[in-house]
Amino acid sequence: MGKVKKIPIRTCIGCGTKRPKKELLRVVRSPDLVIAVDRTGKRSGRGAYICPNFECLERANHKNRLAGALETELTPENLAEVKEQLAGIINAPPPPGRIHR
Ligand SMILES: [Zn+2]
Repeated sequence: MGKVKKIPIRTCIGCGTKRPKKELLRVVRSPDLVIAVDRTGKRSGRGAYICPNFECLERANHKNRLAGALETELTPENLAEVKEQLAGIINAPPPPGRIHR
């Protein structure tokens, strides 16, 4: 009833920009250590937010920031998987080359 809805704001761990949660992608590390892009934002586990683009994913991975935020280690396979899921979500092919560790 006339209540102002608070928009949840999250910070992209890639570029550090604060954006409404809906505009960011949540990467989640589930309790059974599966790393995935969480499109619903409701999966349980340790999550980190990035802007939906490859640049921010790359930046997030720089110096293992993403791994740190998820409190786990990321294998190149984990990263490839996230990259692929991101590609599917934003409907763009992954950039050539691979993510640097
Ligand atoms: Zn970003």
